[in-house]
Parts: sequence; structure tokens; C-alpha cells
Amino acid sequence: MKTASFTDLALSHELQRAIADLGFEEPTPIQSLTIPVIRSGKDVIGHAHTGTGKTAAYGIPLLEGIDPHKRTIQALVLCPTRELAIQVSEELTKLAKHRRGITILPVYGGQSMDRQLSALARGVQVVIATPGRLLDHIRRRSISLDEVKYVVLDEGDVMLDMGFIEDIEAILARTPRGRQTVLFSATVPDTIHDLSRRYMRDPKIIRVVHERLTVPGVEQRYYQVNEQEKLDVLADLLEEFDPKLSLIFCNTKRRTDALARRLRARGYPADKLNGDMTQGQRERVMAKFRRGEIGVLVATDVAARGIDVEGIDAVFNYDVPNDPEYYVHRIGRTARAGKGGRSFTLVTGMDAGKIRDIQRYAKITIGEQAAPVRGPAPVVTGTLPDEIRTLIEKGDLGPYRSRIQRWIEEGHTSLDIAAALLAVTESAPEGEMGTASPSRRRIH
Ligand code: ADP
Ligand code: MG
Repeated sequence: MKTASFTDLALSHELQRAIADLGFEEPTPIQSLTIPVIRSGKDVIGHAHTGTGKTAAYGIPLLEGIDPHKRTIQALVLCPTRELAIQVSEELTKLAKHRRGITILPVYGGQSMDRQLSALARGVQVVIATPGRLLDHIRRRSISLDEVKYVVLDEGDVMLDMGFIEDIEAILARTPRGRQTVLFSATVPDTIHDLSRRYMRDPKIIRVVHERLTVPGVEQRYYQVNEQEKLDVLADLLEEFDPKLSLIFCNTKRRTDALARRLRARGYPADKLNGDMTQGQRERVMAKFRRGEIGVLVATDVAARGIDVEGIDAVFNYDVPNDPEYYVHRIGRTARAGKGGRSFTLVTGMDAGKIRDIQRYAKITIGEQAAPVRGPAPVVTGTLPDEIRTLIEKGDLGPYRSRIQRWIEEGHTSLDIAAALLAVTESAPEGEMGTASPSRRRIH
């Protein structure tokens, strides 16, 4: 698989530096597909899910096209809400960091008009606006769109849902006919097509569709852990399953460094693979991994992208990936060539939402396992008491579950919580826990 890089996009030096500062390793699919088309001057309808980097997809070519010597508004981004306008403005400001003389201003309802007027008077080239407030400025003549080259309709579907169609039309009517119009949307309902037929010129529709998501033949499990326990749990799993070759994923380059070092310190033949290494270094590590001299390879998603090694028995997600698609890519490294494989994901309380999203998105169920127990084994006190079993089977624990969910989100594991509750109930005076009314013993 060919990995697109920001280098392939031949960005200006200033944008390249800003992207390096932001720590983006490679363009997202919607970015690598849309940036060249927007640059070529064509109208574009970009269609990709939330969180796929659409802001930079339009922001990069737009910022490159601004003339910093002209103090007129050259680009207009319309957003449905003030939160989004502020967020986009922040992202574009970061991208424009090394491009001198570009001023970006969010213009939204709820902020003092005076503040906006004085900022506009100083000269602004990029305006990120909500439609209503922008129309107010147009009517007051504090904003002129006569010199606008780019119009971006961000979250087009949301703006239409919110009933902004007339405002958007009124705004577009104030911009030059020769403008370039780009629309981004997570969904493309018919109303978007109507709008594009009237206001866009032969737009190119760029859709990022997901690849097939199922990974047959991989036995997937996850373990709830604390951040501090991760290394111990990983080591236990390596002992228990003894994979010949395993690939361990971390979310950042720095974490791959640290983990490879700590694994080596524990005697594992581990090394790392990340984007900070030269091509030569990476090739050497890969060759050793293929030969089995390195049994445990700790990698970032990007660095592992090209890896196609047969015989990887296990994939570990030391960190839960931020993007569900990465999860599927990661575990697809095992179970190649018809062989089975295993994947183990370490999930901290903070990641509870991510693991839910992954399962929903990939339409899979990942079995939760109790992490191997370490330290002095607790005294085993027989089977689950009937009372508790009945409560679980009756299944109306909703309110309790949501309270526990909150503790999990605070960073505790369900296993720890259950263990602590059990400890509390067992130390409770006789009779106190004898009823099914936990409110008698308040635990917040
Ligand atoms: P969308 O508009 O598609 O919902 P955003 O543009 O808000 O997504 O981007 C989501 C997050 O991803 C932001 O925090 C952004 O900084 C980050 N991001 C964008 N492009 C990249 C990239 N190429 N690599 C890593 N992170 C990125
Ligand atoms: Mg967006």
C-alpha cells in the first residue's frame, strides 16, 4: 500500500513547517484526495466522516492561496455554529503560523460587534463566520465580499438542517461569480446537491469510503487496565501466549521509544519502528523482525503502515487508537495468509468511549477479559452469591451501571471497582447488605 505523505503534496515551506509543529505525520485520506483538486481551482464537494481532518483539507490550499500583501477578505468559511467557527479559526491560525501577514478572524453571533468591527478595520484576509452575523456585517458594510476568491461551506449538511439556506444564498450572492466554492459535509443529502447545482461549478465530489472492516480469523480481546498497569499486563500476556512475533502499537512516537526500552529492560527482544527513524534504520529493524531476531516490535500506526510480515501471531494495542479505522488496520497485521491471530487491546477508563466506538463502527464485539491477577492472590470465597446473581439476571441495574460508567470514565477499571465494592460489602456489618437496597450504603 502506498502511503501518501505531506511531501507528495509539495506544500509550501511555511505550511510544511506548521504541519510539522502540529505533529501531523501524514495527510488523512480526505486531505490527500482533496488538497490537489482544490489547488487546481476546481469546486469540490468533500464527503467524509467527522474527525477526518476536513478543516486542514480545505485550510491548507486556501491559506496557500491568500495574498498576504492585500488586506482584503479573500477567503470566507461559513460554519453552522460559533463553537465551530472558533475551532476552525484556531486550526487555521495554527496552520498559518509561519505564513506571515495573514490575519484570520472568526465572526459569530454573541460576540460584541465593536470588537469585531475594530478587528475588521485592521484588515483581515480570512473570515470564518456564522451566516447570521456575517449578514449583519454585510448590511452594515463592515464586511465586503467583493474580493473573495474562496468560499468554504463547512458542515454543509448541518447548516442546511439548521435552516441557513436563505442566509447562505444571500451571502453567496454577494461574492464574485469567479470564486471557487468548496463544500464539506459528513453526509450529502439531496438538499446539498440542490445547493451545489445552483452555486457550484461542475463540482468534483470526493468521497472517502471506508474499506471493508471485518478482519476474519483474529481473536480479539480487550482488558481494562490502569495506565500504570499496562506494562505488567502486556508482559503477562506475552508470557501467557508466547507469540513468536508480535506487533505492539502505541499512539505516539515517544511512547514507542519508551515502551521498547522498558521491554528490553525486562529481557524481551524488542525494538521500535516510528516516523523519527531514517528509512535505513527502519529497514534494518524490519529485516530483523522478519528473521525473528526482534520478536516484539513496537510501532506507530504510520510507521507500521507498510508492514506486511507473515507470521505475526499477535497484535497488541498498548494504546487504543484514536481512529476506529486504525484499529482495523492494526489487527489486520495478524491472521495473514489464512492463519489465525490474536489481538489484545489495553483499555484505560478514559478509553471506554473509544472501545465502544470501535465496536460500533467495525460492527464487531470485542470480548472483555479480566486482566491477569498479580500479587498475592485474594482468598477465593466460593461462587457468586445468589442475591447478586439474581440482580444481574433481572437486569434492571441501569442507574447503577451509569454511576459505574462514570467511575470508569474517571480512570478506574470495572474490575477494580467491583473488587472494591466486594471488599466493602464483605467488611460491612452483618445484615447491612442483606437487602437489595444499596442506597443504605451510599457510595459516591
Ligand atoms: P473534521 O472537520 O473532519 O471533523 P477536523 O478538521 O476537526 O475534522 O480534525 C480533527 C482532528 O484531527 C483535529 O484535532 C486536527 O488537528 C487533527 N488532524 C487533522 N489532520 C490531521 C493529520 N493529517 N494528522 C493528524 N491529525 C490531524
Ligand atoms: Mg469539520
